[in-house]
Amino acid sequence: MEDLIHLLPDAVANQIAAGEVVQRPASAVKELLENAIDAGSHTVQLIVKDAGRTLIQVIDDGKGMSFNDARLCFERHATSKITKVEDIFSIQTKGFRGEALASIAAIAHVELKTKRPEDETGTLVLIEGSEIKEHTLTTTADGTSIAIRNLFFNVPARRNFLKSDNTEFGCIEEEFTRVALIHPDVEFTLYHNGKLTYDLKPGNFKQRIVSIFGSHFKDKLFPIEHETNFIKISGFLGKPESAKKKKAEQYLFVNHRFVKHNSLHFAIESAYEQVLPDGVHPPYFICIEVDPATVDVNISPTKVDIKLQDDRVVYGFLNAAVKKSIGEFALVPRLDFDYNTELDLNHVPEHAQLRVPPVAHDPTYNPFHTSGSGGGGSSSGGHSTGQHSPTPPDWESFVRGIQEAPITPVQTTTQSTLQFESNPQESLPEVDAYLITQRRYLSVKIDDKLYLIDIQRANERIIYEEYLQALQGQPMAPQQSLFPETITLTGARAELLADIREDLLKLGYDIEPISGGNFAVNGTPYAEESGDVQTLVECLLDDYQSNQLSHRTDRDKNLAISLARQKKAVMKPLTALPEVNHFLQRLFSTLLPTITPSGKKIYEIVDTARLLG
Ligand code: ADP
Ligand code: MG
Repeated sequence: MEDLIHLLPDAVANQIAAGEVVQRPASAVKELLENAIDAGSHTVQLIVKDAGRTLIQVIDDGKGMSFNDARLCFERHATSKITKVEDIFSIQTKGFRGEALASIAAIAHVELKTKRPEDETGTLVLIEGSEIKEHTLTTTADGTSIAIRNLFFNVPARRNFLKSDNTEFGCIEEEFTRVALIHPDVEFTLYHNGKLTYDLKPGNFKQRIVSIFGSHFKDKLFPIEHETNFIKISGFLGKPESAKKKKAEQYLFVNHRFVKHNSLHFAIESAYEQVLPDGVHPPYFICIEVDPATVDVNISPTKVDIKLQDDRVVYGFLNAAVKKSIGEFALVPRLDFDYNTELDLNHVPEHAQLRVPPVAHDPTYNPFHTSGSGGGGSSSGGHSTGQHSPTPPDWESFVRGIQEAPITPVQTTTQSTLQFESNPQESLPEVDAYLITQRRYLSVKIDDKLYLIDIQRANERIIYEEYLQALQGQPMAPQQSLFPETITLTGARAELLADIREDLLKLGYDIEPISGGNFAVNGTPYAEESGDVQTLVECLLDDYQSNQLSHRTDRDKNLAISLARQKKAVMKPLTALPEVNHFLQRLFSTLLPTITPSGKKIYEIVDTARLLG
């Protein structure tokens, strides 16, 4: 019988391989931009027509290529960046597989002009469907210009898969953004259909973010900075109020390469857990640097997927560093009350056994409480067992004292590689006057600043944290009622109640099924709590269920948030100064007094000193 196997002609093999690297115009853009960066360019121009269908051109002022290299670069596995396989574990360049230009040349008409600064003349290469059409000397500027025309001219199937110009150009912008962000020292321009769409001057990382995403980003970011001999984490995080339901600007770079990494992404988002409601996403721009030997970038042809050797350790560091930054910067108003938080991220000893820091999974983490005292703000008056919690004679001198006091680093108490500690100066302000308007807005003056606080929202935050703590640690004791009230619930609600009954008990609600859909309310958390338990429970169950459906919320959080929302409006009104002060104590002892767990602003500050000139 005849043999069946034959070798594919090069042109066919190249076309097939090209499919891995070049799926759409944006993939070609990415490869060309990365080559320009690898060539050490200072200025990179991207010119695009018809979302890349007609033309993609990248012009750089990098090191250029010799006459021979200009032809060789289109060969498969032709690269100047590595010579042996180990090299990919110390790689400093974006490329190393030597397949981008070969792939592009297989499926487009390519014109390359290049010149090394040290050469007299440059080189021109024309190549179409892997076939060299021209290879001559030419005059051209130092650097390289590659123009790709008629992408997929010989692969109609791919061409037909392309989406609208809007979508394709969106993808191009995204690739452009990823490269431009992480190289803020390089000047980038992007022209689309003759129009200058981006003009990015060299600057620092923050300036680059702002010049790409707009000046409104200036005030939306706070820095993240953390360095040990194992990892360097830097960049910017979005303030909670800049989080979005969809398409948040989220950029993670590992060793200057944009990467997609689910678990690292989760490390970042979960650090925002108590600051943001579920289903919304914070912007972030984070650069991680680790030893390249611990990163495998060669697991996909486009190199956006990577594998980290110390996956869990990096996770822990990243999660902790994000939490630390949130603690320091998202809470600026709270720093007025001086929670001088010294969070200690220790260095890893050179040969230490690395392990995941325990804090990475601590849902009750509260940077403003000593470790062990947990989260929550229910403590009486906010005084901890702390070593130094003097009652200040008056608020002004108190604040002055704090401002002048040096911040002392905190000693770590255990051998854990990474740990948060706080420096509790938990004395909170006492106000001597207050005003409540519309029964909802509390105004108090603290150190020349007027705080306008939404009482209901504040209650939501306070109660939420108390509940979460009760669910995860110290349950609340129900106050038994002498005459249990009976409530009636229909099918789904009755089932749900049965399901969360145990948890409700931890929150002080002792609700017992009697018969059919009838339940006896034997106890509630506060003896004085009256109100309509039937409605409270119904609303609670409905809210709980809709949270569950819409965002797969964690059980405890869901219950805490649902109940807090029901209760915020029925809390006892504030009617006297001691109550107001107690309320302030509780609010400012929470993890995040600025925002409700549903993401709403709790108070506004008016700087009266400035207001009055
Ligand atoms: P890789 O980047 O993986 O090496 P490419 O196919 O993208 O593979 O490029 C092949 C080679 O062509 C590169 O290794 C580099 O030597 C050269 N090259 C490509 N683009 C440029 C450029 N803009 N400037 C200088 N040299 C380039
Ligand atoms: Mg390349």
